[in-house]
Amino acid sequence: SKKQGRNQFAWFESSMQTEIQTQNMIEKGLRTGIPAGEFIPYYEQQIDLESGKLVGFEVLARWNSSALGLVSPDIFIPIAEECGLISDLSESIMRRALTDALDWDSELILSVNISPIQLRDPWLSQKILKLLTETGYPAERLELEITESALFENIALAQSIIGSLKNQGVKIALDDFGTGYSSLSHLRALPFDRIKIDRSFVTTMDENSESAAIVEAIAQLGQNLRLPITAEGAESVEVVNRLRALGCGKVQGYHYGQPLSVEQTRWMLARANLL
Ligand code: C2E
Ligand code: CA
Ligand code: CA
Ligand code: CA
Repeated sequence: SKKQGRNQFAWFESSMQTEIQTQNMIEKGLRTGIPAGEFIPYYEQQIDLESGKLVGFEVLARWNSSALGLVSPDIFIPIAEECGLISDLSESIMRRALTDALDWDSELILSVNISPIQLRDPWLSQKILKLLTETGYPAERLELEITESALFENIALAQSIIGSLKNQGVKIALDDFGTGYSSLSHLRALPFDRIKIDRSFVTTMDENSESAAIVEAIAQLGQNLRLPITAEGAESVEVVNRLRALGCGKVQGYHYGQPLSVEQTRWMLARANLL
């Protein structure tokens, strides 16, 4: 009816307003919170499937907001990308993570997410290499996780950035493989060191035969291309065992626990004699 239509419009309008308000609030939060150090790294364990040992961590951004509590990156990363703050955010998180990890066992690797927006910055490799020099963290123990899309808008720039980082020993992983724009052609265009299978396939592989077939195909592809595989989103021992049987190199996921704060990570490493 007409009345219902109007109500729906009013609802739509007010929900759009709320969305814009939330967006503005988060943008303000980014502008003040980045310099204030409110954006911090959490650490998700990465396990070598053959030895069962901890070999490193994926660095995952969290916003420790006094008003909102711990905020998920799915909320603030897209806004940081839109309002031109992703570089500052990324630098702040990376600086902290590299510094945290200096105290840990010297074999552990850090995997850091890089937004496709950052790959449009001709200074990206210089910025990252400067962070490595300033912190004293070794380039060989840093892996960058790269996804999809804008990356390949300017393939020549992405190639040159990745080339100069790799020259210094930094490793490059193709993240979220199997979804969106992370497609087969990218494997030829850029010299990746590793493929990460998207968690949407891994979390469902024990109940969904299509997911299982996709994980198997990616594992086979990795073997054929001689690219090691990290599977993310392993939530059960059954899935871990299947990934091992498929020859995946590394695994991460809630089976091993949720991402940890730096304090929790230190505590865990101390118990494992890795501090
Ligand atoms: P991603 O790179 O695919 O990161 C993995 C996400 O899967 C993380 O969510 C992690 O907590 C979650 N996860 C890990 N194990 C499991 C599992 O067993 N089951 C399920 N269902 N989920 C699992 P998180 O921390 O919320 O990060 C979401 C996304 O935000 C990331 O996806 C990444 O795209 C982005 N992101 C996070 N930190 C950064 C950052 O510092 N920079 C950039 N550019 N993006 C980031
Ligand atoms: Ca990632
Ligand atoms: Ca991923
Ligand atoms: Ca993702």
